[in-house]
Amino acid sequence: ALRAHGIARRIGGHAVLADVGLEVATGQSLCVIGPSGSGKSTLLRALAGLDPLDSGQVLVDGRDLTLAPPHRRGIAMVFQDADLFGDLDVAENIAFGLGGQRSRAARHDEWVRVTMLRLGLAGLEDRLPHQLSGGQRRRVSLARALVTRPRVLLLDEPMAALDDRMRLDFARQLRQVRQRTGTAMIHVTHDQAEALGSSDRLLVLSHGRVLQQGTPQDVHARPSSAEVAALLGRSN
Ligand code: ATP
Ligand code: MG
Repeated sequence: ALRAHGIARRIGGHAVLADVGLEVATGQSLCVIGPSGSGKSTLLRALAGLDPLDSGQVLVDGRDLTLAPPHRRGIAMVFQDADLFGDLDVAENIAFGLGGQRSRAARHDEWVRVTMLRLGLAGLEDRLPHQLSGGQRRRVSLARALVTRPRVLLLDEPMAALDDRMRLDFARQLRQVRQRTGTAMIHVTHDQAEALGSSDRLLVLSHGRVLQQGTPQDVHARPSSAEVAALLGRSN
């Protein structure tokens, strides 16, 4: 489980995150929605420890990790932009999650093989990223995060650039990971259907502040303000 409260971050005198609090239970998923520039990616990076916080606290399974370095948090992140190493093959890219320099040796690791198998990547070990489809690249990014056996997985727009069938497939794989491992997940999306259909809780962010949090059904049925209602987008 992940718990964070009072998360604040200022960049250049501008409050990008202000007093953000959230909680994701073991094996559950929280979906974060909000306009472009509302601070979604910044929030994930802050939770992952990739950027410093101005204030606030991050706890994973009850342990205070606010000051822990990224690789000691049990938090893995799949980034908004494809972030594979172009000169490493698929197996090496995934094995990189196990520890940087060792990736060429670790490509034969049994856990790398099992992770690839579970994500439908078996047989693609020797391909380079440019020889993959967009959906396959997303799954390699996911595999590289999962191979670390994170307690918490942060996904920044994981479904962007996937077609409808791949989205369903990807959502199903994430659900299986939650059930099998109890990993808590936070994922950012612009897609209303995805937000409603594949998460246990929904958090609405605007200008770095939490406007509303609850089950997707509750937030949709009872938006706390006109702004939330607008963001839930009949416009979409
Ligand atoms: P999108 O949906 O477009 O991905 P987002 O909600 O992820 O948007 P962030 O990337 O978190 O938004 O950015 C939040 C705000 O912080 C934006 O106004 C952005 O310009 C600003 N910002 C983010 N990182 C930096 C930085 N390193 N330097 C200056 N401003 C930044
Ligand atoms: Mg973003």
